[in-house]
Parts: sequence; structure tokens; C-alpha cells
Amino acid sequence: MFLTVDDGAEKDPEFAAMAAELDVPLSVFLSDYLARSDYDYFRALRDHGVSINNHTLTHPDLRRLGADALRKEICGQQDRLEQELGTRPRLFRPPYGEYTAEALRTAASCGVTAVPLWTEEAFPDHLEYRYADQRLHPGDIVLTHFRAPAPGWKGSMADMLRRVVDTATAQGFAVARLEDYL
Ligand SMILES: [Zn+2]
Repeated sequence: MFLTVDDGAEKDPEFAAMAAELDVPLSVFLSDYLARSDYDYFRALRDHGVSINNHTLTHPDLRRLGADALRKEICGQQDRLEQELGTRPRLFRPPYGEYTAEALRTAASCGVTAVPLWTEEAFPDHLEYRYADQRLHPGDIVLTHFRAPAPGWKGSMADMLRRVVDTATAQGFAVARLEDYL
């Protein structure tokens, strides 16, 4: 299974330290308006093997955007991330998992080669499963977020990571690197 972390609002040092210590492969999808207060945090994650990918400049619903706005949101974030991290992302995740054929064509035109969505969502205190059997399945992509403790997010990002790793291990799964399978 794969673990992906979206948006970039919370920059929790305990989470970064734990991800590095456990050597958990993570794919991160950043929206510039949330990430830009501290790209150093994401550069440090990258230095520990985390892949940093595109989640648009301002997190809009892409179904509402025309050609120019699509280009600005998607290709603009490709440019931003290349500027901040030195490499152009290959992966793009549309906000809310919503997209159009034109959005996919736009992403492909500026270097995106895959658009992975997700199956489960992870929180500090539970996982929301996709399937009725309430288990992980081979190849599942788990979505989570850079979030601080809040109503609906009962714990820290480190709690969330511990839960995902423990759950995967208990069900006989390993966390793998998404880019290696695309
Ligand atoms: Zn998002």
C-alpha cells in the first residue's frame, strides 16, 4: 500500500522526524498557498526521500476552471515546485479528486505523467476504508493531510503515521513508494 499526504498546511517537526526515522516512503502533494510559508520543511522531507508533487497553486475545483486558469493552477505549481525544490514533479493530484479531460491534458502538457487518486483516508484515530470488508487491499493508496489537532482530527500527524504503519503491518502490508509503481 501507499501513503500520500496532501495540501501542506501543518508543518509538524515530530511527523518529519518520525517519517525519517521509520524510513516510511511518502508521496506529498502540495498546494502552494498552504505550503509556501515554509518550503524549508518540505525540502527537509525531500532530503529524507519523500517525493514532492503537485496539488495546484490555490486548491480550486478544477471542473469550474477555463483553459487559462487550469494552466495557471496546474502548470504554475509545476513551476513553483521546480523553483523551490529543484525538480519538476511527475505526479499531480487534483483537489477533491475532481478533474476534467482538459485538466488532464493541461497537466500532461507541463510534465505530469500520472494522476493518482486514493482509496482510504487516514486520521490520527481511525482509517476510513473504501471497501465493505473494512481492510486494506494490495495497491491501495491512502490519503492523509498535513493537519494540526482540530475537531475531526483527534491527535497529531505522528499519531496518524503510527496508526497507518501499525494498521498496515497488522494486516500484512508494507508501505511502498508510489513512484516505483507508476
Ligand atoms: Zn487537497
